[in-house]
Amino acid sequence: MSRAEALAAALAALEVRLAAACAAAGRQREQIVLIAVSKTHPVGDIEILRSLGVEDFGENRDQEARHKAAEVSGVRWHFVGSLQTNKAGSVTSYADVVHSVDRLPLVAALSGGAGRSGRELDVLLQVSLDGDPARGGARTDKVPGLAAAVAAAPGLRLRGVMAIAPRGGPVVAAAGFAVLHEVALRLREEHPDARAVSAGMTSDLEQAIAAGATHLRIGTALFGRRSPRLR
Ligand SMILES: *Cc1c(COP(=O)(O)O)cnc(C)c1O
Repeated sequence: MSRAEALAAALAALEVRLAAACAAAGRQREQIVLIAVSKTHPVGDIEILRSLGVEDFGENRDQEARHKAAEVSGVRWHFVGSLQTNKAGSVTSYADVVHSVDRLPLVAALSGGAGRSGRELDVLLQVSLDGDPARGGARTDKVPGLAAAVAAAPGLRLRGVMAIAPRGGPVVAAAGFAVLHEVALRLREEHPDARAVSAGMTSDLEQAIAAGATHLRIGTALFGRRSPRLR
């Protein structure tokens, strides 16, 4: 099987899984944006998926993302990884959406970078569902303050929330996504345009769809397993 055939088969199988999860949750497939998380995978894979109709791609490292965004045009780039403040300016030069805003200094850095590159950036607030600092995310009680800062920052548009499920299997993931749903509802009361909920990866997309996710970040189910050396 060629790489193009393998990716087409993976995408078709993923769409079957999405259709089943949407049906089970009483939702429409059109309500959900599929982001292909292409980290560690070559530009050629991205071009194949783009030719198959995928329009949104996710990356988690600035250097790799910047290189790929320069090679591939006509798609939306989502920055989904933990972000160092000194990389924020670079990210604003190519990203359309940043999913991982979890602290105030990042808001100022992204806003400054957006101004310098003359771009507007959609921002999601990453929420910690497990308190593990290594996985990023703001505590839920920090969300209102961060939201106010993003809403007031030139060049940034507050669009919603993002989270990575806590570890421990489907029941734990579902409980975590239920917390995220509550956070999203509260945010929307203050910020009606912040409607996005970025949740769900290869292992927990069904739980995310059941809990109202609007954006899925899918790597392994599309591209196959990443080399452990590369994450
Ligand atoms: C790698 C990554 C994904 C995709 O994970 P898979 O389990 O391969 O689908 C999603 N979100 C973030 C933040 C990631 O770093």
